[in-house]
Amino acid sequence: MENIRIQLDASEIPTHWYNVVADMPKPPAPPLGPDGQPVAAEKMLEIFPPNLLEQEMSAERWIAIPEEVREIYRLWRPAPLCRATRLEQALGTPAKIYYKYEGGSPAGSHKPNTAIPQAWYNRQAGIKRLSTETGAGQWGSSIALAGQMFGMEVRVYMVKVSYEQKAARRSLMRTWGAEVFASPTSQTQAGRDILAKDPFSPGSLGIAIAEAVEEAASRKDTNYVLGSVLNHVILHQTVIGLEAKKQFEKIGEYPDMIFAPCGGGSNFGGIAFPFLADKAAGRNIRLVAVEPSSCPTLTRGHYAYDYGDSSGYTPLMLMYTLGHDFVPPGIHAGGLRYHGDSPLVSQLYHEGLIEAVAVNQLATFEAGVQFARTEGIVPAPESCHGIRAVIDEALRCKETGEAKTLLFCLSGHGHFDMTSYDRYFAGELEDYAYPAEAIEAALQHLPKVG
Ligand SMILES: *Cc1c(COP(=O)(O)O)cnc(C)c1O
Repeated sequence: MENIRIQLDASEIPTHWYNVVADMPKPPAPPLGPDGQPVAAEKMLEIFPPNLLEQEMSAERWIAIPEEVREIYRLWRPAPLCRATRLEQALGTPAKIYYKYEGGSPAGSHKPNTAIPQAWYNRQAGIKRLSTETGAGQWGSSIALAGQMFGMEVRVYMVKVSYEQKAARRSLMRTWGAEVFASPTSQTQAGRDILAKDPFSPGSLGIAIAEAVEEAASRKDTNYVLGSVLNHVILHQTVIGLEAKKQFEKIGEYPDMIFAPCGGGSNFGGIAFPFLADKAAGRNIRLVAVEPSSCPTLTRGHYAYDYGDSSGYTPLMLMYTLGHDFVPPGIHAGGLRYHGDSPLVSQLYHEGLIEAVAVNQLATFEAGVQFARTEGIVPAPESCHGIRAVIDEALRCKETGEAKTLLFCLSGHGHFDMTSYDRYFAGELEDYAYPAEAIEAALQHLPKVG
């Protein structure tokens, strides 16, 4: 069978990131303080450097990628675009299935695409230490790598359940020189408050963010970095979609639909937004974010101003949310367990320019195993969500006889997640649809502003 792999050369790594704000029907809603007023820049400068803050607020369509960042991107970029011919054949579908593979980075996912520039911009601004949170460890390991590249210290607050379950990711972070703590810790007020209420708290991303932000706000030499959600993070991830567009041009094709797993929205925005520019110009293309039915932020959450963390340290952002005190069930796609979503993705979803679907855990592993057995790559549990949705679409095409061109983001490999696969094979995993009452209850605690 023919192997189709569309490669670019190093000179074709994008020179600019694409900022979707330039093509949005309405400007993004501003982040607000607890008083309901837009947050003052000085407040944000306590934890972010001015150059990244400028990107966060920018409406410029193209933003130049620093040469030193492109140099490091070359370690794994351009990322291949591959056609999954064996999967197509196994499904018996007339659809063509393409995937953009982001698992070739040193950390094994798309996250270094933003970790590298975030560390670089902080270093340029004279910052020597970075603090952050991580769930399953993909972001923590990416920022550990990036900090190491620029000689910076990195502190990672890792959600306690994951710290205990994902020992190998912890080791990876330490190998790249980072300090890793199980959150909640007793080192921050946010952590101590949680431990006073529940000494056995399993932690959550919201809690870990509160700890990392508190540390950055309390030290001049330390800034906070976030692996998803924010505008500048999604901006950096657009290298994925920009490369994919060039690769499709080379073969004279164009996708009808794009799928990506969606936690905070960065790999989805990264692959989809460069194509949204064409949609804004009248081209017909459907962009689908895929989330777990246990953490159904876009499909069942409310569009409202909410905090990014559990303690209310972050500004309020207008986004789809399940409530900032939502503690999601312990599904294996750790990177998709976030109560909120990117404000840019949320706004575009609210305006009907993108779509979202929710899929069940067992069906995602089934899809991941089918992908591994046909295409070889073992996908991360998060990536299995995108694969599930693409397989479902390919099966619909089989019924209707449509030969659609489908693209999905294979956001990472699953080599550090093999115990999750083992538990799937042992029949120990469950589907968990979040109950409507729990969603209503969490939404009762939404801050009353905006
Ligand atoms: C973190 C992660 C995700 C989800 O995060 P987004 O910001 O929504 O992209 C998806 N896949 C992998 C492999 C991840 O590491």
